[in-house]
Amino acid sequence: MKTLTNFALLSLLALSAVLAIDFVTQPSVAAYNPGKQTSAEDTLKEFAAIRPIDVHVHVFKTDPSFQALLERLQLKLIDILVMDDTLPYRKQLAPQIKDAFALVGSSHGHVALCTTFDPYRFGDSSFTADAIKQIDQNFAQGAIAVKIWKNIGMEIKNSDGKFIMADDPKFAPIYKDIAKHGKTLMSHQAEPDVAWGPPDPSDPSWSYYQENPQWFLYNKSGFPSKQEILQARDHVLAENPDLRMVGVHLGSMEKSLDDIASHLDRYPNFAVDTAARMEYLMITPPEKVRAFLIKYQDRVLYGTDLDYLPDADVKDVLQDWQTTYVRDWKFLATDETVEYHGRQIHGLKLPAPVLQKIFRSNAQHWIPGV
Ligand SMILES: [Zn+2]
Repeated sequence: MKTLTNFALLSLLALSAVLAIDFVTQPSVAAYNPGKQTSAEDTLKEFAAIRPIDVHVHVFKTDPSFQALLERLQLKLIDILVMDDTLPYRKQLAPQIKDAFALVGSSHGHVALCTTFDPYRFGDSSFTADAIKQIDQNFAQGAIAVKIWKNIGMEIKNSDGKFIMADDPKFAPIYKDIAKHGKTLMSHQAEPDVAWGPPDPSDPSWSYYQENPQWFLYNKSGFPSKQEILQARDHVLAENPDLRMVGVHLGSMEKSLDDIASHLDRYPNFAVDTAARMEYLMITPPEKVRAFLIKYQDRVLYGTDLDYLPDADVKDVLQDWQTTYVRDWKFLATDETVEYHGRQIHGLKLPAPVLQKIFRSNAQHWIPGV
């Protein structure tokens, strides 16, 4: 789920100034960088040349101009389904799956599907068997991965009134089934630290909790700690060495590259995506981020959490997506600057083979079938 709507808008505003100038006159923006400042259009050409795969988007419909963008950027998407009982269009699983396969089918190979199962039916006696039956059906139709979401750990309770956790025995056969089919588990467990408080308006995710207070746990009692939720996730990793797991949103360890590194060291079946957490990398000391991405170049997948919601205007969507890809490419691939909350962030200029892995081949390795 898009977690940074306000932030995305802010960054859109901030960057649009730069982009607007670029589109019109393509100057070198000397105030930001003594070197070159490539236009948005040329930056997108560089991005497209790597034939990028964005492993984390939520697309609910398509449009000829959206499809044209995918083709122009030579972009492949993994569309991720989520069951969320707080949003009307995410409450029902069957129509989401039907719409998603229609999207995949009409995309000329540009969209692949990560399905999910319905965790709100956890209390049903046939829950595990039904979930397996449904995801197997989706695999047969071409789904390449399965998502679990933060409602496991933070929302749904069992019949004893306890929050269900990712390592609940009822989920174990589902994980075995995913591994048996050679598919990948995309795991969004817990949230950024700031969800547990204290309030911090400077945190990149802060605006999300202003808009989605149901996930803001500060001063709410009875919820599991972030550590408990991630320990349950780690338990799944340890119990299922044959299951590839991508911990989305930097595995919810967005403020500690050391923590991510120690998880990657400990669990060879674990990788992370960058979805909606690039901003945290931007505010981490650049030498540290660069060293991390080079050392773990086989374990980080490019994802954005961009969305195309049922009620969205395609013009806004195209603008938002292109702005994000320009920003992310500049940050990871160039020595130009990007702006974040009024700060100039210097690009990491990662080596070409590392970019090739992060933007493309790691997705193929970790999520086969894409
Ligand atoms: Zn998401």
